[in-house]
Amino acid sequence: MAWFKRVEKGIVTPTEQKKETPDGLWYKCPECKTVATMAEHKRLLHVCGSCSYHDRVDAADYFDLLFDSGEFSELDADLRSGDPLQFVDTKAYPQRVQATERNTGLKDAVRTAHGMSAGQPLVVAAMDFKFIGGSMGSVVGEKIARAIDFARQNRTPFLMISRSGGARMMEAGYSLMQMAKTSAKLAQLAEAGVPYVSLLTDPTTGGVTASFAMLGDFNIAEPGALIGFAGPRVIKETIGKDLPKGFQSAEFVLEHGFLDFIVDRRELKQRLADLLGMLRPADAAAPEPREARRSSVKTQ
Ligand SMILES: [Zn+2]
Repeated sequence: MAWFKRVEKGIVTPTEQKKETPDGLWYKCPECKTVATMAEHKRLLHVCGSCSYHDRVDAADYFDLLFDSGEFSELDADLRSGDPLQFVDTKAYPQRVQATERNTGLKDAVRTAHGMSAGQPLVVAAMDFKFIGGSMGSVVGEKIARAIDFARQNRTPFLMISRSGGARMMEAGYSLMQMAKTSAKLAQLAEAGVPYVSLLTDPTTGGVTASFAMLGDFNIAEPGALIGFAGPRVIKETIGKDLPKGFQSAEFVLEHGFLDFIVDRRELKQRLADLLGMLRPADAAAPEPREARRSSVKTQ
């Protein structure tokens, strides 16, 4: 029948007449499915206004959030990875690094900087998950080690923001050495009496959890963050049992004594300032020297 037959083949709409919503205009919360405009989502620091789900953000977002007027000086911005093992998987490691640099505009999976936060000096190292899963290779370890040295030399508190899948397999043993190196640097920082706060965000796993992320004077986390060493699937297969509900969430880890508290990203800057105000190194604007305080206690 003629009326049933499509006379023109297909439906063709010229490109200029197509009406599409541009990508990235709306944000849908994966937890409660609430839809917000991207601008509103950004204004709320990428936290869902309805259920407080914390969306993953980059080092740049934390720098914006924490440093006063978004002003900071970046440390070792040009440090780049070598290819010590000449590692090849689906592509050669240097090619993978170059491609990731192009796609992300980053040089590696951590950025380190210093500046003022709520009127107090602060050194921050923040990881970027989009750079090879936030994996810890020698550049990540070296940048963190140098940031810790900077904090120690300037007697400035150090904040580490972890977001990582663990060690970088393309650097194998070199990655594992970063665990020892960063831990040793943190021991020196502790010896010097300079505070270290570790913020664990979603996800913090593997060698990062097993080294610097759990060595803070305070270990704190964002709500709902996955925190663990091995992933839940690996553990389930190993022990052959179902895992408890909420296993490896920040809330679960807090309940089992591995965290000091959980902090909403929107309150992070103030909570951190309060905490560091209490932990300020003894020689930084202390009302009286430590010895004098001790002797006054004795004579009471
Ligand atoms: Zn939500």
